[in-house]
Amino acid sequence: MQILLNKILENCRRITEKGKVATYIPALGKADPNDLGICVADMNGDLFSAGDYEKKFTIQSISKTVTLMLAIMDNGIEYVFDKIGMEPTGDAFNSIIKLEIVSPSKPLNPMINAGAIAVTSMIKGKNSLEKFHRLLNFFRKISGNENLDINEEAYLSEKATGDRNRSMAYFMRDVGIFTGDVEDILDVYFRQCSIEVNCIDIAKIGLFLANDGRIPETGEIITSEKVSRIVKTFMVTCGMYNASGQFAINVGIPAKSGVGGGIMTSIPHKMGIGVYGPALDDKGNSIGGCEMLKKLSEELDFSIF
Ligand code: GLN
Repeated sequence: MQILLNKILENCRRITEKGKVATYIPALGKADPNDLGICVADMNGDLFSAGDYEKKFTIQSISKTVTLMLAIMDNGIEYVFDKIGMEPTGDAFNSIIKLEIVSPSKPLNPMINAGAIAVTSMIKGKNSLEKFHRLLNFFRKISGNENLDINEEAYLSEKATGDRNRSMAYFMRDVGIFTGDVEDILDVYFRQCSIEVNCIDIAKIGLFLANDGRIPETGEIITSEKVSRIVKTFMVTCGMYNASGQFAINVGIPAKSGVGGGIMTSIPHKMGIGVYGPALDDKGNSIGGCEMLKKLSEELDFSIF
């Protein structure tokens, strides 16, 4: 495995030149577009890594999977999916267009920004700080990393420039998708997106999902098999935005990307893989990350389809 990862990483480095680092959140623009890293965490507790796997980056949209788990645990499946749909959109992750067209108004799924903001609004807590702390502790628990925390600069940068998310959130409150203080809800959302991770952290969250919501080392049940299955299914249908179909064909496993350059994948009952490469393709997915996963899938034949 180690030799294979080294080889794939070296072969994929060049493709990062074809991608671009996200700049719509100004702090993300500082990332090095040449970075590329990978970590595989398997059910035996072994970790295999290559390249810039220890480099820290913000989790961004990968966080949507974790928030969805906690929101379902807090409110139940029925409540969550009464407000948020289960269908892929075919639109960009931050698209507004379907919010008004779909009737009654409902964000189409929890992996696009609109749906994810609605999910975040469902996290229980007395105030936004308590809500975020519950969420952060949940991230720490399932990644096995007690030190996870936010990157303050990325958080402030997105908060200062996140008007598209702001407009979606105000629209959603207007049509009754959620109630409460929009800025408070967005504050939790911007913080969750700014949690700093590396490839090992997201590989371990992927492994937790692969292990049906149980901590692999201890067997401790954190969430039900059903909740973990729902999350993995959304990762297949919507996790790579409007490239989810292509990714399912090329790689064939549940995956969730973020504009920070990370991709978290989960191969049921086998492994979690975390990749990082901040140079993105035109859909907002890590260009080097997608290529590495495609090559790895070909070599190990791990498509679940
Ligand atoms: N924080 C980012 C946003 O809301 C997350 C988007 C992403 O990673 N695709 O725009």
